[in-house]
Amino acid sequence: MPPRFRLAVFVALVQAILGGCEATPDRRSGRAAGALIATDSAVLAIVPLADPRSATVRAVHEALEAKYNVRVVVAAGQPMPKDAYYPPRKRYRADRIIESLAKRPEWRVIGVTDKDVSAAAHGVKDYGLMGLGYIGGRSCVVSSFRAKRHIGRVAVHEFGHTLGLDHCPTPKCLMRDGEGTGRNIIGSDRFCDECAKTIAKWLRRPVP
Ligand SMILES: [Zn+2]
Ligand SMILES: [Zn+2]
Repeated sequence: MPPRFRLAVFVALVQAILGGCEATPDRRSGRAAGALIATDSAVLAIVPLADPRSATVRAVHEALEAKYNVRVVVAAGQPMPKDAYYPPRKRYRADRIIESLAKRPEWRVIGVTDKDVSAAAHGVKDYGLMGLGYIGGRSCVVSSFRAKRHIGRVAVHEFGHTLGLDHCPTPKCLMRDGEGTGRNIIGSDRFCDECAKTIAKWLRRPVP
């Protein structure tokens, strides 16, 4: 099978499995899962799309440091990308935010906002989300608007997608598909053994 066609089949297959969930493969880069391995100097940048001292940013920072053995830094705050605004619903398109953040130089980037974010999901062209991350993508975004006090877990889940993790069938795993309900996040605070093993392998260091 020619490589391009193989990739298209892979993308279609993953989309079928996800069933319109918030995680989709990074079509811009076409990277395979886990292709971007962390080096010792790799930095995960939290980019506050608001006040960098907010409780939301702090919660995301603490959760990522607790669950991943990577260097996490909080970057300077920046405004929402202008082209992300979606006037019909007065909220921001998560896919546009991700595209904009992917231009940053850090190894991985996570945007953090208290504003409502949305993207095409669950058969709806503009679906309100807690977060969005592409499988193997460089950037993701999380919003406290729907996630509320679970924002840290949402960040751990979406960053997991950028590492290359797909949704996990194991109940109570943080990488379980929330299917738009957030049940994965509300119901668990840990990775299953399989996901933890995969993360440790890709990051070449143990999971805390
Ligand atoms: Zn997901
Ligand atoms: Zn799992």
